[in-house]
Amino acid sequence: MTAKFETNSEKNLTVEYNPLELEEEVRRFWEQNDTLRKLAEAKEKNNKGFHGWVEGPPTLNGAPHVGHARGRTMKDLRYRWKTMQGYFMPFWAGWDCQGLPVELEVEKQLGVKNKRELLERVGEERFVEECKKVIMKYHKMWVDLDRKLGLFIDHEKAYWTYHDAYIEREWQILKRAWDQDLLEEGHYVVAYCPSCQTSLSNAEVGYEGSYVQVEDPSVYFKFRLADRKNEYFLIWTTMPFTLITDTMLAVRPDAHYAKVKVGDEVWILVSQRVEPLMKELKIEKYKILETVSGESLENTKYEFPFKDLVPRQAELEKSHPLVHKVITEDFVDVETATGIVHLSPGNGEEDFFAAMKRHIPIFAPFDDEVKFTAEGGRFCGVFARDTDAMVVEELRSRGLLVEVKPVKHEYPTCWRSHHKIVWLARKEYFLRTDKINSRVLEAAEKVTYFYDEARNRFLSFLKEGKPWCISRERVWGAPLPVWKCTECGAKTLVASKNELLDRAIDKPKGDFELHKPWVDRITLRCEKCGGTMHREDFVLDTWHNSGASPYARFTDEEFKKYVPVDFLTEGIDQTRGWANSLLLEYTILTGKPEAPFKAFLFQGLVQDARGRKMSKSLGNVIDPNKLLEKYSADAFRFYSLRKSSPIDFINFDPNELGRRTYQVLSTLYHLNRFFVQNAEFDNFDSGKHTLEWARKEEQLKNPDLWLLSKLQETIEAYTGKLETSEYNLAMASLEDFVIETLSRLYVPMVRKELWTDDPTTLARRLAVYATLWHTLRTMVLLFNPVTPYLSEALHQKVYRQLDPTLQETVNLESWPQVEEKLRNKKVEEEFLTLFKCVSLVYAARQGAGLKRRWPLNKLVVVAPEEVLAALKNVEELFLELINVKATEFTTERTKEQGSLDGWAPASEGCIQVFLDVRRDEALLGAGIMRDLARRVQALRKELGYMPTDVLEAVYLSDLDDESIKLLKPFVAEMKELVRAKTVHLQKDREQKNVQWHESQLDEKKVAIAILDKREK
Ligand SMILES: [Zn+2]
Ligand SMILES: [Zn+2]
Repeated sequence: MTAKFETNSEKNLTVEYNPLELEEEVRRFWEQNDTLRKLAEAKEKNNKGFHGWVEGPPTLNGAPHVGHARGRTMKDLRYRWKTMQGYFMPFWAGWDCQGLPVELEVEKQLGVKNKRELLERVGEERFVEECKKVIMKYHKMWVDLDRKLGLFIDHEKAYWTYHDAYIEREWQILKRAWDQDLLEEGHYVVAYCPSCQTSLSNAEVGYEGSYVQVEDPSVYFKFRLADRKNEYFLIWTTMPFTLITDTMLAVRPDAHYAKVKVGDEVWILVSQRVEPLMKELKIEKYKILETVSGESLENTKYEFPFKDLVPRQAELEKSHPLVHKVITEDFVDVETATGIVHLSPGNGEEDFFAAMKRHIPIFAPFDDEVKFTAEGGRFCGVFARDTDAMVVEELRSRGLLVEVKPVKHEYPTCWRSHHKIVWLARKEYFLRTDKINSRVLEAAEKVTYFYDEARNRFLSFLKEGKPWCISRERVWGAPLPVWKCTECGAKTLVASKNELLDRAIDKPKGDFELHKPWVDRITLRCEKCGGTMHREDFVLDTWHNSGASPYARFTDEEFKKYVPVDFLTEGIDQTRGWANSLLLEYTILTGKPEAPFKAFLFQGLVQDARGRKMSKSLGNVIDPNKLLEKYSADAFRFYSLRKSSPIDFINFDPNELGRRTYQVLSTLYHLNRFFVQNAEFDNFDSGKHTLEWARKEEQLKNPDLWLLSKLQETIEAYTGKLETSEYNLAMASLEDFVIETLSRLYVPMVRKELWTDDPTTLARRLAVYATLWHTLRTMVLLFNPVTPYLSEALHQKVYRQLDPTLQETVNLESWPQVEEKLRNKKVEEEFLTLFKCVSLVYAARQGAGLKRRWPLNKLVVVAPEEVLAALKNVEELFLELINVKATEFTTERTKEQGSLDGWAPASEGCIQVFLDVRRDEALLGAGIMRDLARRVQALRKELGYMPTDVLEAVYLSDLDDESIKLLKPFVAEMKELVRAKTVHLQKDREQKNVQWHESQLDEKKVAIAILDKREK
């Protein structure tokens, strides 16, 4: 059983368009009828194909923001549109539940400062429970938003990345990597957040907004050459703490280095930097003694100055011949600073590779909080960046400091905690995506991105092709399924819970979940030596969780059916996030140069009305859940698609929802109301009075043919722009059709014909209804993916009222197709000419101060033959639109208009019009009548009369004798215009028992009263 709309057919659309009430009513209708599920089931059973799709899972660590609401609107647009086209799309929700973002949110709520405190005070078990509570709390907000937005996403079929079943399928992807030798453990320099106490992936470091202006010390210092008394290398750094882990200096082999005499000393630096640097250091007296090649400096030993503070450095020097010597490297930049860099392989990626190449030991004496360990000697226990000042002081006391001053520069911070990132060498697990980079790029190049800038951004990021560090030293995450033997170091990867249970030394009692701490309690027997294997204490990068979704969220059968999916859309920030991890994991899984998506639309971010980023500190964040309590979801949806191209940043201004957007939707609403009231009055029967019928009856006129032809153009343009994801242009074509074509042009052309109950013209009226039924119903269908509430309401309250055999929801209706037989280029061109001439006449009227409502006697059009021919075909309509009694068409200007006396001219291109401005008594009377009729019509509307209501009487008072005399001949016409049985013209307000409404007519006052049966 389908629940009915509460309203009956009599007054089914209220006088005002109240979207919030309407939407609540539609929402109830969908929920009572289980429309979402019925629609999905109907399309799953009966479709013309699949449209694969997988949800980009929102992370449940916070409330949705307005950018999410916009993105979700785009997804729902796609779903409703493809569904109406006859496809089945698995529009199923999904949630990203684990990882650092969730952990940090929980830490904040528990009031713990760091991981150590967390583990000591809270413990892993309780922490996991708290994480689950937090995701459920935010889940509710997301579901609320989807409900308000009218999203038809299936929440019952949602995937959750923390469920065992999901994790097991994610493990299977890792197994594929393991088997291909693409998953390995290794030391590597990673970006590390001391606050979150975990490494970050390369992608995370490059996030939008992670680079911020910070102040660091800019330090020029010198290292003495080991066998010289007064000769030094001049070096620059902004991270003095890295001097503690320094093991080499590097110069560029092909550059020239100068030996410069400064006072008693000789400084070595790259030649082209001598002059600017001496200026910067304010050293006026200096002399270049000689120039040597970078190559010749190789192997020069320098005196590492802190061997007393860091005894381990002295040991390192003995352990390898290249420690504390100069090496040559091409990456050394000779255009800035001194052209000599010091290398700390424990704290820099390039430094690290330079050391690895030469088998130099990596010195990285840091703990998890990035404090120096005992190997850091004097600096033991101090956070790395806090030793910056200590190091500067040590340099100063040893006479090695040249200059120190603060410098502001861009430096990456953690995207979650905003703590400064530190690079350091750590033992991590990597997916060696660098090894499959060419396959990944080949896959990415085949994808459609709709916009070049997004494509370029994505491809250039992928070209970096660095290994992907997937291990995180955290708690709440999918565990890394690698177990390692404590005896022989052998490793094994487990790809399912069953396999784990099979191989466990002690089977756990009862069920357990695939999370820390439970999974860590399971040990395995080493197949090589019989020793005990423990799980490597890492969880997976949360991007690895969501990147597994095309495989992990489906069954094998579904995976085969839906993946690669046809279309995905997410924010532009996901180039480094989900789009990247999806692509990498799928390439690993299948081994094929193929992406799991055929098209990816990246969306620009949402900013505030002034174009600023939305942030808590600026206080300009918009909560979409609150926004949608005040504004209609349809308006939000239309606006967020219409305002700018999907790829551009959108400056979101809630006030704009009430302006143009409201006007468009309200106009569509009122056009439907206008149609249904008139159609019901004349007993229009959509089954009988079809366009075919109207054509056979020869009742279709030029305006109808024109409208139907324009409609085809709109269906084509709109659908085409949806295909190319140019939503803003798609919306513009809808807007233009509703506001311009229908409301401003077509309806005024036919309104007068409908404004009568004359039985002899009934067939013509029914033909207009047939045209409007076809056109407006098509618009309701085209609008449905954008404004599902309004479309459903109109479908129910207008179209199903007139034709109960229609589908029980608008979503089950089919997508409108272009009907070639309704195209009419000739009429369209004639109308183009017509509208051009009409606006010329309006311009002429305006120039002469003649209102459009005032009838005039004559117009002369001077134009080429083809223009005149087109106009003559629509002459009757032309005269009506310009409100002139007769037109003369000519190709030559006559003498009469030449003098211009009594004529108002206007021209554009080859068309000239001359309007006869003379008005006799009849024209003056008709003009006043039209002015007054318009006021009565406005009053009718204001008092809530239906357009079809016939009034008993209309009284017009406070008129002067002159006006009454001029008006008298037009009383009959006026009766018809205002739909009243009688119209009375009076000097004084004789009628006592009525309500008078005063109104201004040019300089004079008039009073109007309406008498109706209601008031008797
Ligand atoms: Zn952090
Ligand atoms: Zn072993």
